[in-house]
Order: sequence, then structure tokens, then C-alpha cells
Amino acid sequence: MQGIGPSKAELLAAELGLHTWGDLLNHFPFRYDDRSVFHTVNSLHADLAQAQLKGIISGTTVVSAGKVPRLVADFIDEDGQKLELVWFNGIKTIGPNLPMGLPIIVYGKPNQFRGKFSIVHPEILLQSKLEANPLPALSPVYSLTEKLRKKGVDHNAISRWVRLVLNQTRDLIAEVLPADLVTSYQFVTRAQAYELIHFPTSSEAMDRARYRLKFEELFFNQMRLIRVRGLRKRDLVGWPVKKLELFNVFYHNHLPFQLTTAQQRVLREIRHDMGSGKQMNRLVQGDVGSGKTIVAFMSMLMAVDSGCQACLMAPTEILAEQHYQGLAPLANKIGLPIAKLTGNTKTKERNTILEALSNGVLPLIVGTHALLEPRVRFHRLGLSVIDEQHRFGVAQRARLWDKNTVAHDDAANHIAPHILVMTATPIPRTLAMTLYGDLDVSVIDELPPGRKPIRTTHVYQNQRLQAWQFMEEQIRQGRQIYVVYPLIEENEKLDFMALELGYEQMQAHFNPKGIAISMVHGKMDKAARDYEMDQFLKGMTQIMVATTVIEVGVNVPNASVMLIESAERFGLSQLHQLRGRVGRGADQSYCILMTDVKLSRETKERLATMVRTNNGFEIAETDLKLRGPGDMLGTQQSGVVDLKLANLATDSALMMQAREAATAIIEDDPDLELPQHKAMLDYLSHSENSALAWSRIA
Ligand code: ADP
Ligand code: MG
Repeated sequence: MQGIGPSKAELLAAELGLHTWGDLLNHFPFRYDDRSVFHTVNSLHADLAQAQLKGIISGTTVVSAGKVPRLVADFIDEDGQKLELVWFNGIKTIGPNLPMGLPIIVYGKPNQFRGKFSIVHPEILLQSKLEANPLPALSPVYSLTEKLRKKGVDHNAISRWVRLVLNQTRDLIAEVLPADLVTSYQFVTRAQAYELIHFPTSSEAMDRARYRLKFEELFFNQMRLIRVRGLRKRDLVGWPVKKLELFNVFYHNHLPFQLTTAQQRVLREIRHDMGSGKQMNRLVQGDVGSGKTIVAFMSMLMAVDSGCQACLMAPTEILAEQHYQGLAPLANKIGLPIAKLTGNTKTKERNTILEALSNGVLPLIVGTHALLEPRVRFHRLGLSVIDEQHRFGVAQRARLWDKNTVAHDDAANHIAPHILVMTATPIPRTLAMTLYGDLDVSVIDELPPGRKPIRTTHVYQNQRLQAWQFMEEQIRQGRQIYVVYPLIEENEKLDFMALELGYEQMQAHFNPKGIAISMVHGKMDKAARDYEMDQFLKGMTQIMVATTVIEVGVNVPNASVMLIESAERFGLSQLHQLRGRVGRGADQSYCILMTDVKLSRETKERLATMVRTNNGFEIAETDLKLRGPGDMLGTQQSGVVDLKLANLATDSALMMQAREAATAIIEDDPDLELPQHKAMLDYLSHSENSALAWSRIA
């Protein structure tokens, strides 16, 4: 292709992941600069992100004092004021090629040092060239890398290439949205949108282009998920639950407490799905302590009532153990065998379990990812419950399902196990729609009765002694306490020292008072960790000092205080999860957020949110606003919500509209067979990202 040779094409691929024309067109500007405005040296100020000035270069020098040699050019503006242009890279090639003495325009970020301004690695354009071809008022700014800049690829180069591609493909950019949507939303056409997002003629035009492309992005995201869900509902058969027997025996005689209305409602929804003859794919969202475990167990009983086995999978050993400890007594009451399988299960026991699973004498199993290993075969797996799986996205879950169709005869008959995903991480609606848009969702929005809301306070490090005093009072009343320290990889050494130091200080303070302390962290070997955990569970120790290994799921109803050290370093959702470790018994519980004295405004807002509310959904919404979806979910998930233009925090209204539009179309035309949906179907069946990927860039 003209203008982009093989070496530049390679560079674009390596640096920006742009392989095709389509990729290039979808590399949207992240900002637009007003290139009709010119500054003079005197009008510069340090807050300017970018500025352009007219003038000439009067001379250059290479300064090699200091570590890094640099090329400095003296630029004189039209008022005769001086400004330094500086290059650290490409000195040898740039120096001789600078247009000495000719009227130019320089463009870049002005830096102020000792009252004097300079621009590092500026863009330089000849005024004569620009007069023929003036830059638009809204000039696109693209993300670039240092390497691209060094090789002379700047915004203008990208812009030129986009221009070339658009000129050649304009007529090929077909409309993919159904015509009536385009009409009712008054969207610009797809071709217009691509033109205007790269070359806006006005800021209104740019807004309209972005609006349309954002909608399109969200619409197809939802369309894919809704279709997956629809196809699965139509095609995947699940073991139908007909009559409830054991379930009823348990329900009438052995329930340890009365179910909340929310638990009952969710069980009814599950019962409906599992009785439908289709495969259930349901997500149960419920705040920490809302009682998801009993719902899981009773769903497993439904599966057993349909002549099947059921498994419950937890993300960690500790959690699997807790679930096993919790469920075994319940299963025993109705005479159902249950076992636990994890990576640590001894060979002999493992073989017995594997045997019992494959010949069907073991109806219930609790475990970790070990359950997914190929050698684990079920006689007839009717239900998989996946606990705390918010870390998995759609694609990963699909893999789990494949692996779970393990019953040989069932696989042959396309009977899939029902899937129940349980998460305690409240997820804002928009995020849930992109992550779990292919699932049906149930919400347990009610806590068991008698719980007192946890009281949260924010204190500073210099108040630690008062906090310890308070802990001691609680311990005297028979309560137990968590003290959590941050431990992140980037800062591991220091974090670890803080943890150990804190532990020693607490030992020195509390041991003489007859108070015992356990400690668990990820670096301990497993046996030691389990031992410490066990001591705390049994009440042999009163304080548990830990890193976030206790974040998910651990249940010690007697624990009434959660002290979080360096709370400013945790995200909101994480703080909420940690706080959820207390408040599980009938006693008043407390959460103490301890921080440094100096805090940023955003951090103060985070902490204030924690103090103000116990509502996980409210917290999640704030978190999404403060941090954005990628950070909120951790890097693992960023690929899942990889939206180019739309922002899940700020575009939630548009997201709802896109979902509604997609739902309406699928309801009307489930297989997208109508002629007006053909272009959309073709687009969907193309590669995920790009229907414009007809051609390699070079
Ligand atoms: P989570 O939803 O966080 O997994 P759990 O299932 O661990 O919550 O339940 C938290 C605690 O509440 C457990 O001790 C459980 O026995 C108890 N619980 C659950 N449901 C009820 C209820 N309806 N009434 C009283 N206690 C309940
Ligand atoms: Mg749980």
C-alpha cells in the first residue's frame, strides 16, 4: 500500500498491534488538539498540554555535558523571543535535517525550567507546506510509542495513513446496524462515523461520530452475549429435575434456620431453570454473608433428586475446606455421602474418590480446580456450582463448561451440567452486563435476620494504641480479631517487613496480657498456614494477622473486629470483601481502617464511602467511577471488558440502550434470518474485532 512500506507496517504491528487496514481505522484518536491556535513564547505557561508556535531555528548545538547528550536547537518566535528545542534521541539524523532559517511551526509540550521554556522532541512543520494544506482545527492525537516517534511516525503520519485507507475503503464500509436503529437514533452512517472520528469537521460532528461508534461497540458486545445465551438456552439440554424428594426432607426437617425471602426467591428461580429441561446458566450475586452456601447446597440436592451428582468448586484450598466442613454435617443428616477433592488429596484417597465419582456412588463433591482435571470423570454430573468466581470472564467460563461435560454418555447426548456461579463481589450493573451478560442473574439482596450493620471507622496510624486498646476490650468479651496488611508484588519486600514488624509489635503488646496471635501469609508453607488458620478457627488464638489470603469467603462467626492496616492502599471492593469477614455472628462488629496521615482526595473519598455505607452495590458503583473497570477487576479481566471507545463507568445509559436494542432484535428474530439483519449477522460472524480486516497494512 502506498505510503506505508513494509518496515513501517512492521513497526505499527509491533508497537501498536495494528496489522490490518481495519485495525488502523479502529485506532481512534484519544484527543483532538486545536491546531488553529498559535502561542508565542511569552504566552506559554506550564499548564499547557500542547502548544504550537511560529518562528525559525537559528542554530543548533550538541550538549554533551551530563550523562545524556542532547541536541539543542534555538528557536526564535515571531516576536524575537527564544525557546529551546531539545532532542535526546536521533541526534545524528535530526540535527543535519533541521530546516535552518526557514519559517516553521513547532508543536509539543512546553516544559518550564528556571523560568525558561523548552519543548522536548517537538513536531516540526514547514509553514510553506502548511499554507497549502492547513491543519484542521480539531487535529487528532493518537497514542504512539517512543519508538514510533523516533522512527518519525507522529500523529500526522498516522493521520495521513488513515486518510489513505479511508479514501480507498470508504465505499466498502457498509452499514452493520439495522436501518431502523440508525433512523431512530439518528446515527451518522458507519462510513461517516469513521471519517468524522478521524477527521472531525466540528466538535459536534466528532461527538456524533463517537456516539455512534460507542453505541455500535456496546451493541455488538451485548448482541454476542445475548446470542450465546439464547443459543445455549435453545440447544443445551440439562438434566431435568422432576420431583423433589431429598430436597423436601431436608427443607422440612433439617434446615438450620429459616431461609430469608431472598434465598427462597433465588431457590425458586434455580428450581425453575433446573426443571426446564434446558441447561441452567445462572449467576447468584449476594453480598458477603447473605447466605449463598445454603442456596448452593439445596440446589445440589435438586440435582441429586434428578438422579445426578453435583459438585461445588471453590477458588482456594481454605475455602474448599470450609465449604466441606459446612456442608458435610448437612449432607450427613439426610444420609448423603460427600467428599472433598483438592490438589492435596493423598493418592490413595484420591483414587477412591475418583472411582466413586465415576461409578456414581458418590453424589456430592466439594473441591478446588482439581475437579477440572481430565481424570476426574463423573457418572452423571447434573450441576456444577462455582463459588466466588468473579475472577473469570466469559471465555474462561466457557472453558470450564467444556471440561464439565464429563459424563461420557451425557456428552454424547449433549446433556450439559447445570451451572450455578456464585459471587460475593457486587458488580455494577453495566459491568455485570458485559461480564455476565450471557447468564441469568439472581440477586440475594437481603441479609439473614439479626445481623447488626458493621460499624466502620477511619483512624490514623498515630492512633494505633487506642485501636489496640479497643481490640483488647473486645477480646475480653470473648471475641476474635483480624488484622490485615497489604502485600503486593511490586512492593513485596517492604510490605513483608511491615507485616512481620507489626506482628512482633503486637506479640510484645498482647502476649503478656495472655492474648495469642496467629499469622498467615502467602509465603508460609501450606502446613504451617493451615495450622495457624486452624488455631484461629478453633479459638485457640484471638488475633489473626494476615495478608489478603483471608479475603475471600473465610467464615469465623466469632470474629468481630477487622483492622485493616494501610487501608489507603486497598481498592474499595477489596476493603468491602475484607470487612465482610466480620459481622457474621449476632454481635456488633467493627471495621477499623487505619491509614497514613497524608491522603489524596480520591483516597479520602474511598474511605468515606466505606464509613458511610455497608451496601456492596453502592460501593462497587463508587469504585467503578473512581478507578475504572480494568483496575477494579484486576488485570486478568481487562481483556474481557476491552472496550475501545465506550466507558462502562460513564456510558451506562448508552449501555442500557444498546442492551435493550439487542434484546429486542433477538426476541424478534432469534436467528437473525430477516434480510434487514443480514449485514449485522455477517459482521457478528466475522472475527471478533474487525470486519474491516480485509487487507494487511503493507
Ligand atoms: P456467603 O453468602 O457470604 O457465602 P454464607 O453462606 O457463608 O454467606 O452465610 C453466612 C452465615 O450466615 C453462615 O454462618 C450461615 O450459616 C448463615 N446463614 C445463612 N442463611 C441464613 C438464614 N437464612 N438465617 C440465619 N443465618 C443464615
Ligand atoms: Mg461464601
